[in-house]
Amino acid sequence: MDTVQAEISQSEWEVMRVIWTLGSATTHDLTAILEEKMGWKSATTKTFLGRLVKKQALSTEKEGREFRYRALIPEQAAMDEATQALFDHLCAMKAGQTLENLINALTLSQHDIAQLQAVLTQKAKTAPEKVDCNCLPDDCQC
Ligand SMILES: [Zn+2]
Repeated sequence: MDTVQAEISQSEWEVMRVIWTLGSATTHDLTAILEEKMGWKSATTKTFLGRLVKKQALSTEKEGREFRYRALIPEQAAMDEATQALFDHLCAMKAGQTLENLINALTLSQHDIAQLQAVLTQKAKTAPEKVDCNCLPDDCQC
C-alpha cells in the first residue's frame, strides 16, 4: 500500500499536529506556534510546510499576504498507519510484550482503559495459544 504518512518525518509530524488541532492555520500562526513550541526559525517551519504540501499532506491557499494551510489527511488515519507501519517492522512474537510496555508507559483515561479491556475480552475469544516469530523465512532450516 502506498501511504503518504510513511514519508512524514518526525519534524513534519509536529507541524501536522498543530494544523490538525487548529483545523487550519496561516503561515503566521504556524511560525509563531512552532517557534515557541519547538524553537524553530520561521524559515525552518516554512521549509517543512513546503515539503508537506509537496507530499500532499497539506493544502495551501493564498489569504491576503500569506497562506492558509489545511490537512489533507485525517489525524486518526495518519496515526493508525504510522503505528501499524512501526509494528509491521517488529517481531510478531514480541508485539504483545512491546504493546504491554507501551501501555505501561502511557497515560490513559478511564474511558481508554475501558475500551482496551473490551477489545481484549473480545480478542481473547479467538486468540491463538502463542504467536510465532516471523523474523526468518518460513523454509529457513537454521
Ligand atoms: Zn522474531
